[in-house]
Amino acid sequence: MRAVRYIDKETGTAVSDVPDPSPGPDDVVIAVEACGLCGSDVHSVQNGQCAPGQILGHEFSGRIVAVGSNVTGWAEGQPVAASPLGSCGKCRICVRGMPFRCPAAPNIGVTCQGAYAEYAAVPARQLVALPPELPVELGSHAEPLSVGTQAVKLASVGPGDPVLVYGVGPIGLYAIMALRLAGAGPIVAAGRSAGRRAAAADVGADVVIDTREISVEEYAAQSGTRFAAVLECSAAPGAFTEGLAVLEPGGTCVEVALTPEIASLPLFGMLSEGLHLVGACAFSDETYRESVAHIAAGRVPVERLVSERVSLDETPDALRRLQTPGSLVRILSRPGQ
Ligand SMILES: [Zn+2]
Ligand SMILES: [Zn+2]
Repeated sequence: MRAVRYIDKETGTAVSDVPDPSPGPDDVVIAVEACGLCGSDVHSVQNGQCAPGQILGHEFSGRIVAVGSNVTGWAEGQPVAASPLGSCGKCRICVRGMPFRCPAAPNIGVTCQGAYAEYAAVPARQLVALPPELPVELGSHAEPLSVGTQAVKLASVGPGDPVLVYGVGPIGLYAIMALRLAGAGPIVAAGRSAGRRAAAADVGADVVIDTREISVEEYAAQSGTRFAAVLECSAAPGAFTEGLAVLEPGGTCVEVALTPEIASLPLFGMLSEGLHLVGACAFSDETYRESVAHIAAGRVPVERLVSERVSLDETPDALRRLQTPGSLVRILSRPGQ
């Protein structure tokens, strides 16, 4: 098959021929319909953090083309979304809802071969069926929607709760959709890119501020707003600490963006205001199933985020272009294109 593989830090990725994956006893092989280009892939290529030959890509959907010998309940031709998170489902970490930290199995497109390819092998327990009438491509939004949804769950917000989404990259935008599903609001989105701020309004933010013109703290002071939760999706230096400053008593600051920053925290303010600090990474299996159900029911306008669809041959260049995304929101790699 043809696949996009990591070469080295200078080259980035390139398309080459590799052996087709064959299903292990508990796996299926799916023909990839679509795989979203994720910022974490862009950064790991840019920073040279992949193993040579690694096939990235973990936000995908497709149709089953081969079924392992132990697999029951799945059939060739069936459309599926696939969680990339390998897990046993039984250990303490899995029971806690953190399959991505389970030591038993690798994560697809991160620690084993991924889905910027014509085919991908997936353990059957990571599959969720898509309704036959749904465009299969839509299943590729389930992974990033799950990241946003998990962050919203950890924020413990509901109807009438004002929430700040700091950063309007793809994860911030999926988080806005998840906040709307939770009934939270008003939702204030803060970001720099004009195109992505427009997308934030389009998918459900009530107020969108341009952080090049007004800081989050200035906005909060001027509008008299304090937030029940801040979802830090920007990785902008100082954003987490700034988010803490605009929380109401008892509020929650959720770090969602991947950042190496070491933040200094106002501990007295944290205790006197009763603030909650939490990190959100990936999602539980339950959240993934819920995300697929929301997409299948048409409750989230995920397709509005798609800026471009590219072929496998165009995927290495698209990963490069996303290093400076500008107004680009989401690019889907479509091997059949
Ligand atoms: Zn991702
Ligand atoms: Zn486990």
